[in-house]
Amino acid sequence: MEKRRTIAEINAKLENGEGVIMTAEELCNRLRSGEDIRFEDVDVVTSATCGVMSGTYAILSFQVAEREAFERATTILLNGVPGFVGPCPNERLGVVDLLVYGTSHANERYGGGHLFRDLVAQKEIEVAVGTVEGRSIKTTTSLEEIPVARLCSTRNAFKNYYAFVNAHENAVSSIFGVDRFKGPFKELTFSGCGELNPLEKDPFRETIGIGTKILMNGAVGFVIGEGTRSSPEKPNLMGIADMHGMFPEFLGGFRTAAGPEVFYSWAVPIPIVNEHVLENAGKRDEEIRLGVLDIHNRLPVGEITYADVWHDFSVRFDRSACLECDECQVASSCPADAFDGEAKEVHEDFCCNCGTCVQVCKGGAFSCNLGVVHLSGREIPVTLRQSDRKKAVKLAEMLKSKILDGEFVLAEPVSRL
Ligand code: SF4
Ligand code: SF4
Repeated sequence: MEKRRTIAEINAKLENGEGVIMTAEELCNRLRSGEDIRFEDVDVVTSATCGVMSGTYAILSFQVAEREAFERATTILLNGVPGFVGPCPNERLGVVDLLVYGTSHANERYGGGHLFRDLVAQKEIEVAVGTVEGRSIKTTTSLEEIPVARLCSTRNAFKNYYAFVNAHENAVSSIFGVDRFKGPFKELTFSGCGELNPLEKDPFRETIGIGTKILMNGAVGFVIGEGTRSSPEKPNLMGIADMHGMFPEFLGGFRTAAGPEVFYSWAVPIPIVNEHVLENAGKRDEEIRLGVLDIHNRLPVGEITYADVWHDFSVRFDRSACLECDECQVASSCPADAFDGEAKEVHEDFCCNCGTCVQVCKGGAFSCNLGVVHLSGREIPVTLRQSDRKKAVKLAEMLKSKILDGEFVLAEPVSRL
């Protein structure tokens, strides 16, 4: 008979200090080293993913002027990023309700993702409101002054993702590259956190459902449904969380050759309710397939695994190797604006370990084993990671600590996906 336990039983064990939690990385490493981890040995596995995720928008509501200062707002810019005013009109209240897409942008270098992180980092934001009377109201705000600030995901945390190559001669601009994507088969970029990924740990959504409590960018949030384009083979999630509890290191903007994107994070507890769930939670990089698509038509050109691309999670900077170039290529190319070209310093909170600096630094001052993929007789170097495995590990550890400290109690889903 299959062994089972309920989420309520797991919560009771945790409350008594008897529950055992492992991060997905711990579980996989222990299995990799030959340990036999059985149902009795673990109650919860914490999973996480961190990377470029387009399907994100903010819901904000705040006072921009005195009561009766205007009838209705018609347009709004936050640090130059356009929002959509409404749906509530807030007639003559001086209040604006709005949505801001993570992919909207003020210019080539600053978009919704940058704005979300600046808000979460408590920075002052410039606000420009157009009214139905034709007036223009300029003010400033910060997250502290915005009582309702939530981030919603329309499509996040895909059950892993894809790798991309350019199978053709002509270079193309794409959201899957920081620079124009070179071909044929000159480089490979990829997304997905492999064995840390929440839906890879629970691919049949046996424990993840509507109402599952998660950490979104470090803040407590909830799964609210399946995301857009979710399918049984390639599921993804829709979720929501309050921006006030988020950490700036877990979200931000990420510049691609096709415009600014959003960098975003999820951590999801996987309660080990039966042996089948444990079996999936133990899936390792070498068992998780990574389809390789042609960037032109998104059709498959091959398949590898996450073990082929995740070798070294950290990008390192050796200050002594810096040539002090007149124009620092890293400062201008870093998609996360994580390198200070004047001080020659990496802003660790902003760095997403993508590897761009390893490619462009004139002095070879950045290092990381990004790897080389063998595909159909070709050797293709990995040039960009659009997911940050190092931060995903940190998030899974953060969630584990919060559960152990009693700060985060597992929630029973109210409905299956
Ligand atoms: S490109 Fe590299 S070597 Fe040149 S200034 Fe920037 S960090 Fe230093
Ligand atoms: S790995 Fe390099 S290019 Fe990428 S975010 Fe960090 S400093 Fe910037």
